[in-house]
Amino acid sequence: MPDGSAPLKPRTLRDAAGLVEAGLVPPEAAPGLERLSATYAIAITPVVRALIDPADPADPIARQYVPDIAELETLPEERSDPTSDAPFTPVKGVVHRYPDRALLKPLLACPVYCRFCFRREVVGPDGGLLSEAELEAALDWFAATPTVREAILTGGDPLMLSPRRLRHILARLSASPHLDIIRLHSRVPVSAPGRVTAALAEALDSEKALFLCVHTNHAREFAAPALDALRRLRRAGVALLGQSVLLRGVNDSAEALEALFRAMLAAQVKPYYLHQLDRAPGTARFEVPIAEGRRILRALRGRLTGLAWPAYVLDLPGGAGKAPLGPDFATAEGADWLVEGPLDHEPHRHPARAHPSAPPRAAG
Ligand SMILES: *Cc1c(COP(=O)(O)O)cnc(C)c1O
Ligand code: SF4
Repeated sequence: MPDGSAPLKPRTLRDAAGLVEAGLVPPEAAPGLERLSATYAIAITPVVRALIDPADPADPIARQYVPDIAELETLPEERSDPTSDAPFTPVKGVVHRYPDRALLKPLLACPVYCRFCFRREVVGPDGGLLSEAELEAALDWFAATPTVREAILTGGDPLMLSPRRLRHILARLSASPHLDIIRLHSRVPVSAPGRVTAALAEALDSEKALFLCVHTNHAREFAAPALDALRRLRRAGVALLGQSVLLRGVNDSAEALEALFRAMLAAQVKPYYLHQLDRAPGTARFEVPIAEGRRILRALRGRLTGLAWPAYVLDLPGGAGKAPLGPDFATAEGADWLVEGPLDHEPHRHPARAHPSAPPRAAG
């Protein structure tokens, strides 16, 4: 709320009135968005707000974070827990679906609230911080589950934790010899880069292989403050991966994805996943059909460095896992393969060998 005192420090916009004041929505939208904010959290940090051109009604940054009254309409195919976390939760804060890796969700707060979020029914500023006892129980589960080789911190956003708490979590995970990899998923480096202090980067210094998967959907998100934060993380020895969602009106063209992947690589962030949209409630305006997603990616193969190539995946509703959606370049024809050339887009026959090699005999 404005308090009348002289120059206000830029603050995170968290309600309809703030959005109107910032010129991001017209005043007549306020009552509807006020209603919406009771269901879905709103947050736009000063750094993100500075990336938005309020004069552009189709601004790709605004589209990700400025709420729309259409979100209150849930379609029959939309699910409140589209990736089915709940049935795979052995203890509070843990999701264990794959044999070798599991999620740890220490809190459900985020620096910004994305309008397409797959966990939008549960994330929010005042929800989901595990109590000390719950966090210790979750960490005990990792210590007692030797088949799990990788702990994946997600949320919410784990970089919303204090460096002290992060250091404690990483120390506890590092004490388990069966854990080889610690991975964090975060939007903080691009949306609240000021949180990536020297103390936070230092808290991520781990004897385990540590990967930070940065969530970002548009090239413009790689502005100076984000680049500085990413450089601090790199200097701390953190390996950086990138994760994006294919989003209508944000990055749904070969040009937009090329610019995004090039911006990632220039910041030494390796594109890892491009997600098909999860069908969370009220997110229909963001969906790009799979056929179109495959066409866009096909156009990029060969045109930009192979380092840029992410896996295009769908997290199957019901919890069956993340499945690659292609595009595939090879089709079987009898024993031969027809393989499309990424440069000429012509089919090339890759014939079966006349004398195929037998599988090697197991060493005895
Ligand atoms: C997405 C996810 C993972 C990580 O999957 P990767 O394919 O290794 O990135 C692990 N566990 C759960 C429950 C997930 O939803
Ligand atoms: S940062 Fe992730 S969890 Fe948080 S609102 Fe965005 S998509 Fe959802």
